Formats: sequence, C-alpha cells, structure tokens
Amino acid sequence: MIPSATIYNPQSAKTLIDEVIERSNQNIYACYQCRRCASGCTVGEETGITPDVLIRLIITGNREEALDNALVWQCVSCYTCGTRCPNNIQSGRVTETLKKMSREEDVIPLNPNIAYFHDAFVQGCTRWGRVNEMEFMGYYELKNIGKHLVNFQFKKAYDEIVLQVRLGASMFKQKRLHLKLHTSRGRKEVKQFYKMALKKKATLKNDKKSGIGFRLD
Ligand code: SF4
Ligand code: SF4
Repeated sequence: MIPSATIYNPQSAKTLIDEVIERSNQNIYACYQCRRCASGCTVGEETGITPDVLIRLIITGNREEALDNALVWQCVSCYTCGTRCPNNIQSGRVTETLKKMSREEDVIPLNPNIAYFHDAFVQGCTRWGRVNEMEFMGYYELKNIGKHLVNFQFKKAYDEIVLQVRLGASMFKQKRLHLKLHTSRGRKEVKQFYKMALKKKATLKNDKKSGIGFRLD
C-alpha cells in the first residue's frame, strides 16, 4: 500500500468522497477493504496500485494521489474488480470518474500520451458518435508529435511520423483504415448526453463552491 493512503484528511475527504460517489454512482462508503478486487485486477501488478488502495485514497481524502496515479490511467475497464466485490462496487467506474476529474484539473499523467489518447477518443465520440481512425490518430499524433517538437526532439518527431505513415499504409492495404468520416445513428443522442454531463458538471462545481452537499441516487 502506498503510505499516504493511511493519512486521513477529514476536510478534503468529505468533498472528495461525495464528488466521486455522485459522479460514478458507486457507493464507496460500503468498501470494507477486503481486497478481493485487488487479487483480480488486470493491471494491478503493473501499476503498483490496486482498486482497494484507490478507494482508500478517496476515503482518506488524499485528493492529489487519488487523481494522479497509474491505475486511473491504465485501468482497462475489464470490470473484474466489480464482479468480485461483495458490495457490488464497480471500481472501473471509479477509475473512469477519477480520470475525468484528473483531466478537468489538468493533472498531467506520468505518460502524457495516455491523456492525448483519452482526449482524442472523447473528442471523436462526442462529435461523430463513434471513433474515426483518421481523425482519431490525427488528433492524437498532433499532440504527440507537437510534444516532441516543443522539446526540440526532432529525431523523435521524425521517427514517429515515419512509423505512423508505415502503419497507416499497412492498415489501408488491409482495409482497416477508412478515409471517409463515418457517423453513428445515435450521434445526436451521444451529443445530448455529453451536453447533459457538462451541465451536470457545471452544477456540481457551483454546488461545491456554495458548499451544498452531494446526493447518492
Ligand atoms: S472488493 Fe469491494 S469491498 Fe473489497 S476492497 Fe475491493 S471495493 Fe472494497
Ligand atoms: S476495471 Fe480497472 S481497476 Fe477493475 S480490475 Fe479491471 S483494470 Fe483493474
């Protein structure tokens, strides 16, 4: 367990717990740290942090570490943790929530490429209702290559361009790359959901500022 998970900060704990519960709809108060989720976590060994520890970080009010750790960014949403939890806590929903909160608070993950990937996915899905490979990779690579250029890593930028051009050509040959933009039938609904989520987020922010508590549905 990482050490700060044992430091209890009552002031930030209430705010953090309520926000995570409201946004993830998971009753993390029910967690009694049995660690059954930890034994099944697909990426726990690699990230060095398991779902039980993440929940403990939230409950103890360690906001900084709850938003900035490898599990939040590397969780693959397999939901194994949720199927093992005796209290039906879907930690995958918790990691997803923390990831969004982390982006909103401009926390830069250890590997910023994961954040670029996330942003490219959300941007494509909310605009077209689905991911389009060309737009998705274009957005991602713009940020990735841009990062190399601002750091004067021209060789890395060049290598990345060559790699992506080769990959794109190979995918195109195998008909795995579509040049035309596709939309989904439920595109309008996806946009509406996204707008609703943004509205809810703004309300939550205002409630937080005015000190109004959150509610578990
Ligand atoms: S399995 Fe459920 S109750 Fe047990 S530690 Fe994980 S989240 Fe908490
Ligand atoms: S959903 Fe995420 S946290 Fe849960 S077991 Fe899978 S990788 Fe681990």
